[in-house]
Amino acid sequence: MNAKRIDGVAAATRVLQTVRQDVAELTQSGVQPCLAVVLVGDDPASHVYVRNKVQRAAEVGIRSLEHRLPTDIDARELLSLINTLNADPTVHGILVQMPLPPQIDEASVIQAIRPEKDVDGFHRENVGGLVLGQNVLTPCTPTGCLYLLEQVLGELSGKHAVVIGRSNIVGKPVASLLLQAHCSVTLVHSRSKDAAALCRQADIVIAAVGRPRMVNAEWIKPGAVVIDVGINRIEENGRSRLVGDVDYDAVLPQVSAITPVPGGVGPMTIAFLMRNTVRAARLQNSLPVQPAAIR
Ligand code: NAD
Repeated sequence: MNAKRIDGVAAATRVLQTVRQDVAELTQSGVQPCLAVVLVGDDPASHVYVRNKVQRAAEVGIRSLEHRLPTDIDARELLSLINTLNADPTVHGILVQMPLPPQIDEASVIQAIRPEKDVDGFHRENVGGLVLGQNVLTPCTPTGCLYLLEQVLGELSGKHAVVIGRSNIVGKPVASLLLQAHCSVTLVHSRSKDAAALCRQADIVIAAVGRPRMVNAEWIKPGAVVIDVGINRIEENGRSRLVGDVDYDAVLPQVSAITPVPGGVGPMTIAFLMRNTVRAARLQNSLPVQPAAIR
């Protein structure tokens, strides 16, 4: 195996081991962490994601509840379910699987979840808390990216990180987390001028765009660490496969470390969802809450 390849599956296993211990301790003290997952409609990919989350929860001892609702559900019915889950003291985390059908406004659903139960870290109170450097529930994929970087580099302080993409679920929160870790952060997006030149200055590159192999060797400074969040399905040589936003083979000779796709960032998302569920359970029971990132 290539020494530069960051093994996300192994990293997620380590995170889940610590989560399993935390769950066991909490359960012994009378609080079994519980995650409620709400799935609207019959999008096949969403079904797979929910199944994986429920399975992973069971593996670490987290109780899970699945609520499946029909595609044509009225927004009020969904909000009423969220209110019931908000009020239930045995439910610690609420995750509404996105995307939602067009008649439902995703933003209002996210804001309806109690911030202490918002294990996705998307509620504006948690977004604001993250920007202010508070110990809030932070988005799972970005927190997983920080974990991988700290595993590879140790101290991140003083590094120049370039984040490609400025979405609310990846680009912006990962930039906030990097800033909290004392990096100098540049955000590159679709309107940036000469994105490749900006990226070439980076010690750390995080690509979260959704464009297959957009980042090639010309974008990468020798010795940089690359975290590829992109997941893109392409047809190649007559078969369907997943690739990242980074041209892995092209940049490999000059990076010091890189995440593959699949098997890099992907597995971290569920691992940090489980960790957030434990943190949410502690928060709601007035117990000390571990910081978002693990060292
Ligand atoms: P998004 O579409 O919401 O945002 C994409 C961002 O890329 C935008 O901010 C846009 O400004 C930027 N962009 C577009 N074209 C660009 C260009 N030519 N140069 C520079 N920037 C450009 O996407 P997202 O939700 O942030 O997801 C990004 C990718 O990450 C997708 O492939 C998605 O599937 C993947 N993803 C993976 C995980 C995971 O591993 N668990 C989680 C979330 C997202």
